Amino acid sequence: MKYRCDICGYVCDEEKWQTLEDCPMCHGAKLFLKEMVNEESQEKSKRIYEHAVLFAEDNLGVSKDDSVCIDCGICKQTCLSKCGLSFGEYTDQCLICGQCILTCPTKALMPRDEVTNVLKAKKEGKILVAYTSPAIRVSIGEFFGYEAGTFLQGELVRALRELGFTYVFDTTFGADLTIMEEATEFKKRLENNGVLPMFSSCCPAWVKYAHKFYPELKENISTCKSPIGMEGVMVKEYFAKQDNLDKDLLYTVAITPCTAKKFELKKEEIPGTDAVITVSELAKWLKEEEIDFKKLDKSSFDSLLGEGSGGGVIFGNTGGVTESLLRCLYYFMTGDPYQEENISFQDVRGFENVREAKFLVNGQELRVAIVHKIGAIKELLETVKNKTCPYHFIEVMNCEGGCIGGGGQPKISEGQDKEVKAKRMEGLYQKDQQDKIRACYENDDIKKIYDEFLLYPGSEIALNYLHVEKDEKNDI
Ligand code: SF4
Ligand code: SF4
Ligand code: SF4
Repeated sequence: MKYRCDICGYVCDEEKWQTLEDCPMCHGAKLFLKEMVNEESQEKSKRIYEHAVLFAEDNLGVSKDDSVCIDCGICKQTCLSKCGLSFGEYTDQCLICGQCILTCPTKALMPRDEVTNVLKAKKEGKILVAYTSPAIRVSIGEFFGYEAGTFLQGELVRALRELGFTYVFDTTFGADLTIMEEATEFKKRLENNGVLPMFSSCCPAWVKYAHKFYPELKENISTCKSPIGMEGVMVKEYFAKQDNLDKDLLYTVAITPCTAKKFELKKEEIPGTDAVITVSELAKWLKEEEIDFKKLDKSSFDSLLGEGSGGGVIFGNTGGVTESLLRCLYYFMTGDPYQEENISFQDVRGFENVREAKFLVNGQELRVAIVHKIGAIKELLETVKNKTCPYHFIEVMNCEGGCIGGGGQPKISEGQDKEVKAKRMEGLYQKDQQDKIRACYENDDIKKIYDEFLLYPGSEIALNYLHVEKDEKNDI
């Protein structure tokens, strides 16, 4: 038997193959050294991998169907232009962001299926619990003929109930919890000469990128889990107790715009989320079940871990994390509730890949930067490395536009990218504008969970459930 490397074409016999740890020619992973069954399959393999991205077989977020791949190479170009990665060199460095799914013309690339696992859990009699990310309520409609940006939260909740979810919660609650913890951590770093700039930590593709390419910056990354990470663990550890439910009977499913969450949440020390399905998987599931989304009436989130503030809703947009953080930090530092007259967020919003803003809070000037599109971050990271970075806080999102542009979102027709993303963003900003509660510290459910369970932001119990060890955060 002979083996051939799918990356560089190196061929060896079985005896040699047994001794290898990786390809001796290109150092690609051993799994790409595949059995040469016959000349025909060798040719097929060569054809498929000549231009397409090489995915590791254990990629948790993206799957590839070779049978429909036409080897056009668009995925490779996307990865290079959006993430700055050049596959072949970085086969095992995939950020699992799914941006290549959005541009693949043949559906050869898809989010790794987890609906099958949810159906299995349902059959086994588990109680299904869903929580929905902010960015999908303004995009799900695109699968069913609505215009981008149409706010369909009530219909989304109803659709999940139709599919058999007993409880439906809102991940904006998790986003509010994230900000309570992140603002506390940031304030401590500012007051105690801590490591700055502090980077946001809610985008797993960004955290993976930092770990792979800038491991020396791990102390700069916030230790907060992502909103989904916090929501999941609170469902199992708090909600289950409050409702006298056996947490082992609950099967928790995050509904997201994001393929990278599929691997992030499998690394948790205290397990919270059992499955992650993207909005594109959800839309396919609804169509298979013949549920007519356009005919659904509205339903509301369940209480306790129910809705979040407007600040939680805008997490889906680039700049949203920074804006929510500063609303909360303003209150923590001045003691006065944030009001639009006191602080303007105009510079935080927008679509340039790297933006900066300055704020005066309690006499202290705070400088922040916002990056969306991981390929645009290198220069900024070099300034952090050589200690010339002027910022106190940096928000990083892998996808252009933030999570409204995630790899699990609906595909956008060529030439429409900016327009569609602007509409999705506007849908979230409008909801924030209409909300009575616009900052996390005003959310009654947040106050309740600290009173009854977490005690105060940054408490030992909060650190245990809502944060990760620095080494763990980066070990993904
Ligand atoms: S974009 Fe899709 S069809 Fe084209 S090479 Fe990549 S996986 Fe294959
Ligand atoms: S998932 Fe992201 S990082 Fe991985 S190949 Fe696709 S675009 Fe590149
Ligand atoms: S920006 Fe959002 S959707 Fe994109 S990888 Fe990061 S968390 Fe996922």
